[in-house]
Amino acid sequence: MGILNGKRLLITGVLTDASLAYSAARLAQIEGAEIVLTGAGRGLRLTERTARKLPEPPEVLELDVTRPSHFERVREALDAKWGGLDGALHAIGFAPQVCLGGDFMAARWEDVSQALEVSSYSLKALAEATVPLMPNGGSLVGLDFDASVAWPVYDWMGVAKAALESVARYLARDLGPSNIRVNLVAAGPVRTMAARSIPGFEAFEDAWVRRSPLGWDVTNPEAVAKACVMLLSDWLPLTTGEIVHVDGGYHAMGA
Ligand code: NAP
Repeated sequence: MGILNGKRLLITGVLTDASLAYSAARLAQIEGAEIVLTGAGRGLRLTERTARKLPEPPEVLELDVTRPSHFERVREALDAKWGGLDGALHAIGFAPQVCLGGDFMAARWEDVSQALEVSSYSLKALAEATVPLMPNGGSLVGLDFDASVAWPVYDWMGVAKAALESVARYLARDLGPSNIRVNLVAAGPVRTMAARSIPGFEAFEDAWVRRSPLGWDVTNPEAVAKACVMLLSDWLPLTTGEIVHVDGGYHAMGA
C-alpha cells in the first residue's frame, strides 16, 4: 500500500528525466497513484519520450498555460478518463532571458508579463481547470524558489515566485472551504533544463552546498519529490497556504 493509493493526479512540468516533476511523477506511481502528464509546445514530444521512462508510461496531454483552450481540453480529457481528480502538481516556470542574469532594469513589461503569466498566474489557471473535478476535495502543489529575499541573477523570476507564493495563499483561502489544499515546495537548486537557462546558476549551487546544515546535492531531486508526494497525499490534511522548504535547511541559516 502506497500513500497515494487510489489517487488520480495531474502532473505538469515533466520535460526530461532531470525535471523535478519527473521524480515526483515516478514516486507518485511507486506510491500507488494513477497519473496523467502535460507537456507544452515544442517540448511536448520530449515530454512524451520522457513519459516512457516512467514505471507505468502515462498519457500525456498538451497544456501550454498561456492557452485557455488547452486548459479546457485538459479538464474534458480528465473528466472523460477518470470522472474526477484528486490533485495536481504545478511544476512550470519560464522567464525570457532578459528577465534573468543580474540586469534587473533591462526587462520590459512585455517580458515581465510573460514570466508572471507562465510562472505565477498559471497556478490560478490550473486551479480553475481542475477544481471542478475535485468535488470531494483535493490537493494542489506548486514548486517555488524561496522568494522572501532578493537573489543574485534570479531577478524577475524571483518576482514571479513571490507572486506564485501569494497566488497560492489566496487559492488556499478560497478553496479551503471545498477541502482543497494549496501548498508550495520551496526547493533548493537542482540541475534541470530550467535551472540551466539561468545564467550564473552555479553560484547558487556552490552557496547551497556550503551553507545547508543538512547538506545539498544539486543533482538529486528525490527529497523535493518526496515533499510533493507527501503534500499530494492525505498525510497533511490540515496544511494549506504553506511553503515547505526542501533546501537542506539553507533558508533558516544566517550568513
Ligand atoms: P524543467 O524540467 O525545465 O521544467 C520546467 C517546465 O516548465 C517544463 O516542463 C516546461 O515545458 C514548462 N513550461 C514552461 N513554459 C510553459 C508553458 N507556457 N506552458 C506549460 N509549461 C511550460 O525545470 P524544473 O527545474 O524541474 O522546473 C519545475 C519547477 O520547479 C519550476 O516552477 C521551477 O521554477 C521550480 N524550481 C526549480 C528549481 C531548480 O533548481 N531546478 C528550484 C526551485 C523551484 P517546456 O520547456 O516544454 O515549455
